[in-house]
Amino acid sequence: MAARPPAAGERFEHQAARTFVHRLAFVAMLYLAFATAFRVLDWARHPAAGAPAFADLVLQLEIVVVALVVCALRPPRVLAHGIGLVVVASFATQLASEAAARSAEPGQLALWQLCLLTATSVLLPWGAIPQALAGVVALAACAWVLPRPIAEGTLVAGLGLVAGTLASVCGAHFLARERRASSERTAMLSEEAEIGAALAHVGQMLSANLNRPDMLEQVNRLAVELIGCDWSGTFTWHERPRGYRLGSSFGLRADARTELAMLDFPSEVSPLLRAFRPDQLIEIGTDDPQRLLPSHFRRRFDLGSALFAPLYESMQLAGVLVCAFREPRHAFTARERRLALGIAHATAVAHQNARLIHDLTAASRLKSDFVATMSHELRTPLNIILGYTDLLASGEFGELLPAQREVLTTTRRSAQQLFELVSSTLNLNRMDAGRETVDLDVTNLDELLAEIVEEAKPLVRDGVRLTYTNHLGSRMVVTDRVKLKTIVKNLIGNALKFTDRGTVEMQAHARHGQMVIEVRDTGIGIPEEQLPVIFEMFRQVDASYTRRHDGVGLGLYIVKRLVDLLGGSILVASEVGVGSTFTVTLPLTTAGYQIAS
Ligand code: ADP
Repeated sequence: MAARPPAAGERFEHQAARTFVHRLAFVAMLYLAFATAFRVLDWARHPAAGAPAFADLVLQLEIVVVALVVCALRPPRVLAHGIGLVVVASFATQLASEAAARSAEPGQLALWQLCLLTATSVLLPWGAIPQALAGVVALAACAWVLPRPIAEGTLVAGLGLVAGTLASVCGAHFLARERRASSERTAMLSEEAEIGAALAHVGQMLSANLNRPDMLEQVNRLAVELIGCDWSGTFTWHERPRGYRLGSSFGLRADARTELAMLDFPSEVSPLLRAFRPDQLIEIGTDDPQRLLPSHFRRRFDLGSALFAPLYESMQLAGVLVCAFREPRHAFTARERRLALGIAHATAVAHQNARLIHDLTAASRLKSDFVATMSHELRTPLNIILGYTDLLASGEFGELLPAQREVLTTTRRSAQQLFELVSSTLNLNRMDAGRETVDLDVTNLDELLAEIVEEAKPLVRDGVRLTYTNHLGSRMVVTDRVKLKTIVKNLIGNALKFTDRGTVEMQAHARHGQMVIEVRDTGIGIPEEQLPVIFEMFRQVDASYTRRHDGVGLGLYIVKRLVDLLGGSILVASEVGVGSTFTVTLPLTTAGYQIAS
């Protein structure tokens, strides 16, 4: 069975043991440095007393070196602390004998011992008991060298030392507690951050692969990567035949995968599937007390230790994510369980979204088909109405009375308006359904523009002049003829509609290797605040401007969509009462070569 990864507590102990060795070395070096400096300073002040002796310090250095070497061999914690205690005890006794040799004041000795105890309590991560033992050693060393009988000053110094020792023990205790708590907090936070980052990665992958056929396989690949298991698979619900079937897997043996993919698991016959509850994992390891999976099944499909995470969609078990190890091993860790559950949640949401997108696409296609059929069906009778009203108006069926003519004009206008609406709806529907593709072909631009002008002539009112200038000449260009015609026709139609007198002028020329078509009029103009919105659906300028004019507010919207489709741009400049200029810029590729301006 594979070894369980160290828990947070074990990691802390390991780290504390390493820190203890480093700190012990630090305390020892600090002590020896101060002791040496003290002796050298003392000799500088009293040279007559002779050169200082360092033999005892060398001995202590040897003790320290031996202690550090033993500690570096990673002995059990108690032994390491015991070795540390020996080192500190040697310092305490050395301080005491130094004080005795110098006949130092008891207060001075107490101060030295307190410095040592403060340093060990703050620097050595060894807790209250070793610190208390160090305090006892320091007190004993002082008691051993103090002059007898005990004077009052000695008593006060002793009491101070006892109080300081107690404080250092308490300090060591609280520090040890804080160190452990902070290490646990850090471990928890870094685990949280790691799980959060891993799940964010899963979420990113899912949204990038949403609706792609290999989305679930990518989930299994990530599950194996993040949890470190041998294989992962996803079972999803199928209506026909009813049951859960392996939809994807990663890391599973090819033969096991083929065999599993052929099996359907109806929930009625599987105790494992019946045992699932929302947000609850099922783990099957060395033991399976509820007998959820037969042991021969586990052997056959490499389910030594397995974690099953349910994929719930609207409280229905839509699938199951499996993360498995081939051989039995220790129980899954809290981190592994959280990752599995997080991956399962994200997968369930993505799976549901993918299904919704699929359903929506199907519904949208249905709607488009319906609108297309309806529009087609409406256009035929409308064409007939328009045709017959034209015949009536032309006097084909006898002369009309003025009142009859007026009724006929109104009928025709309404029918024409309805026809435009139906045509625009059909065009829009085609674009929305994505069926509008760009059909590039070699086109004679001059012919095309002249044709548009010709077709627009019936719309030209008295007092308005329609002009056309082509600076491009009659060269052959590669473009989508039908779309270009719709764009220019719409713009000229609008210009003529909103111009009562003056001119409507169309110009074509090349600029920076692009084709520019300008439609300029001297009509009613568009207020500045309306300019940004007139390309939106059903946007028409204020009623007081448009009241007299037909139209459904789809023309410019369609123009903009078509221009975008052709990879061009459209701009408008206008002034109320002066006129408007619409400028369309499109890529210009002539048949065989790119035009230079
Ligand atoms: P409509 O069917 O109303 O013409 P469009 O989308 O073609 O719809 O135009 C939107 C609105 O923009 C029009 O209703 C009109 O108010 C304004 N507009 C478009 N072209 C011109 C123009 N050449 N001069 C003045 N106003 C215009």
